[in-house]
Amino acid sequence: MNETNETIAAIATPPGEGGVALVRLSGPQSKSIAASLFRSSVVSDDWKPRTAYFGRIFDPDKKVDIDEVLVTWFKAPKSFTAEDIIEISAHGGVYVTSRILQLAVAQGARLAEPGEFTKRAFLNGRIDLSQAEAVADLINACSEKSLQIALSQLQGDLSQDVNDIYQEIVEVLAQVETAIDFPEEGLEFKARKRLADKVQSVSAKLNDLIQSFDQGKIFREGAKIAITGKPNAGKSSLLNTLLKENRAIVTPIAGTTRDSLEERFRIKDIHACITDTAGFRSNPDSIEQEGINRARDVLESADLVLAVFDGSNPLDDNDDLVIKEIGTLPNIILINKSDLELRLDVNQLPTEFSKSPILKISAKDQSGIEELFEEIYKKVVSDKAVAGESNIVVRERHRDQLRRAFDSLQIVCDTLINNLSEEFVAVDINSALDSLGTIIGKTFQDDLLHQIFNDFCIGK
Ligand code: GDP
Repeated sequence: MNETNETIAAIATPPGEGGVALVRLSGPQSKSIAASLFRSSVVSDDWKPRTAYFGRIFDPDKKVDIDEVLVTWFKAPKSFTAEDIIEISAHGGVYVTSRILQLAVAQGARLAEPGEFTKRAFLNGRIDLSQAEAVADLINACSEKSLQIALSQLQGDLSQDVNDIYQEIVEVLAQVETAIDFPEEGLEFKARKRLADKVQSVSAKLNDLIQSFDQGKIFREGAKIAITGKPNAGKSSLLNTLLKENRAIVTPIAGTTRDSLEERFRIKDIHACITDTAGFRSNPDSIEQEGINRARDVLESADLVLAVFDGSNPLDDNDDLVIKEIGTLPNIILINKSDLELRLDVNQLPTEFSKSPILKISAKDQSGIEELFEEIYKKVVSDKAVAGESNIVVRERHRDQLRRAFDSLQIVCDTLINNLSEEFVAVDINSALDSLGTIIGKTFQDDLLHQIFNDFCIGK
């Protein structure tokens, strides 16, 4: 049997107790299964689509009622999966919902796999693959920005960009294929140059999307921020102040933070994962050394480094170590302990930091912290992203396929300009199309679908 001829069923709400829970069915038998389990004043032949009917779910074998529910029928193809869907809104108890699900299965439904409803929406052409992925991103969104991007992708904005680029490449391919079909009219140098220019302009659009991924990753996964500084500079105090809770251990004994500590917080419409790292200092003991090694890894992978200096003391050898570790990583310089007399000479900071924002703060009395939040936001969110005018790629899978398409198009340009045969040109144009097709699901393999939908929850 074709898998979409089967009717699938799942509890669509999270496990546990709640006001309402939803059992969902999709497939050709949805309505008949629901009708066989449901007593209502309106018989199923008279149901209107998208209308909720009140009644009771009963067990036809044991002849007992299970729950008072609302049943809604979404008639194919006007439903999420483009199939007949039944939604049973029951009381939100674990036992009651699993009983309803069992009854649906006993009547011929099969348990849905993770993401199978969305997978069907894709297979039935309701949404494309990037829109299906946006469903998962929307569910997992944990900030306003990630939510907005997921919604825009679900509404097809990224698909539209990819489709437009796809069409432009198809037009180039058509001209190359004409030259293959009519060799006597092979592409003249001028025509090749024109096509290469066209391919370059398409590549520039691809490049914009590829470049947007750095920003997209920050929106989807949160900005990775690392706090660094010598021991006792006030790193843990700063983390606590940023989190507005005492999460990290604060002590006057140097070297207390021996490992990295990660926390999450929100800045405006994004979220951030902030890591307090072990302090850098010369001659550390072996445990501290391990902490320092890990701190280095954290710094390397951070989108932004907050470099904390103790403003109440002049720069020393340990500060120099910190400065060396930061190197050219994107950073904000924080002169902490501004509640005490300033003894650190900011002019002694190396010239590499001349473009870095320098803020005087006090982790203790919280002065300068609002400005720090502003500065962090400015550093990790570009003006372009604030304007929100262009699409932003948030998934590595999309970025990788865009890169492949871009690379193929670069070869297309070379092949055109170097006067190689049109057949060669066509091969690389086709591989660019394949890569773009994989983003929106024009071309796909079962493995890819498995990978994508396996990350979904059951019932979605
Ligand atoms: P870390 O080793 O860099 O994590 O430093 P801690 O956060 O543990 O702080 C070291 C010491 O400096 C503690 O005694 C803190 O109370 C103190 N400290 C941290 N920030 C400030 C500040 O802004 N002003 C003052 N006066 N003391 C601070």
